[in-house]
Amino acid sequence: MELVEVREGLARILVPKAERIYDAPVFYNPVMALNRDISVLLARVTSPKRVLDALSATGIRGIRYALESPAEEVWLNDINERAFELMKRNIALNFSGSLEERGKRAFLRGEKEVIANLGDANLLMAEKFRYFDLLDLDPFGSPMEFLDTALRSVRRRGILALTATDTGVLCGAYRRACRKNYLAEPIRGELCHEAGLRILIGTVARYAAKYDLGVDVLLAYYRDHYFRAFLRLKSGARKAEESLARLGYLWQDERGKFEYSLEFLPAKPGAHGPMWLGPLKDVEVVEKILKEARNHTLGHRKTIPFLELLAEELDVPFHYDTHALARKNGLEVRKIGEVIEKLRGLGYRATRTHFSPTAIKTDAPFEEVLNAMRGG
Ligand code: SAH
Repeated sequence: MELVEVREGLARILVPKAERIYDAPVFYNPVMALNRDISVLLARVTSPKRVLDALSATGIRGIRYALESPAEEVWLNDINERAFELMKRNIALNFSGSLEERGKRAFLRGEKEVIANLGDANLLMAEKFRYFDLLDLDPFGSPMEFLDTALRSVRRRGILALTATDTGVLCGAYRRACRKNYLAEPIRGELCHEAGLRILIGTVARYAAKYDLGVDVLLAYYRDHYFRAFLRLKSGARKAEESLARLGYLWQDERGKFEYSLEFLPAKPGAHGPMWLGPLKDVEVVEKILKEARNHTLGHRKTIPFLELLAEELDVPFHYDTHALARKNGLEVRKIGEVIEKLRGLGYRATRTHFSPTAIKTDAPFEEVLNAMRGG
């Protein structure tokens, strides 16, 4: 395959030359540099020692963890032989010393250990029981087929990072697939992205509970047609129960008014979920990440503005999309900044949200939001 060199963060990476990214023999998506930036920044503020990039493709993610975070031992894995060959070349390109090859593994031992592995991620994770401080699942589509082994391979208080690119499934375009893959009922319309992210986290919390693991959300977001969640695991049956207690259901009527409630089984018909109704960020972690971002070589020019948006966003479940509300209630669309100011003037909290440029998060009741949109 024909290769070109790209730079991202502190890494130099050879990637296949291709007209369209999905035609390449080994996958590399430059748009995902923002995802990798935030992952590296999170590793810088949480200092994991052992890291696994379970679905590595070119090796970019694992190489960046090794170069740009305090991680001491970083594993890169892919099932594809061409990916394995390329990730070895990329490791050699970024670190001095020579790779020692043993069968389907190559080891680079220096100040940092970087290990390339050829094989099924589920096999590697099963072998490395409670081993990784940070385990990153960044697949094509859904991470669900890797979730059980990942929960066993990450350490009891470690961090599980996951990407899901099957947004059509989690957003309700393929409702049956969402039931099948996530055991949850999705919602369509303007709340679908936030609800999809919450379904993803909720499913992880339900899988984790049987291992007596709870989850804390360090940061979770939606962007560029993918979901991303960084979850800190907590050990113990009580922690598992506490996480399950943060799951519940969402209802929305035809005017766009929503309600949600924490419950194990839905009390009323028409429920969407179950889904995570707890926080989507740890404020302190996000502040630290943002501070790190300002002093670090990043791979994507939008990483800092996006983190700023996440940092200021009010962390309450769900949001009001002004365009959808206007359409559903026969109102004129009003500038979002004006609606936010109006609500703040009335003593409510209100911010923009990363889920949509036309939506707001607020603790104001539905009728007050409509009033603010009327200019009243
Ligand atoms: N994380 C990469 C992109 C990964 S694309 C990045 O940040 O650039 C998904 C990769 O998963 C592909 O390279 C594919 O070969 C690999 N893959 C698919 N199924 C796998 C499995 N069961 N075990 C290991 N790798 C797998």
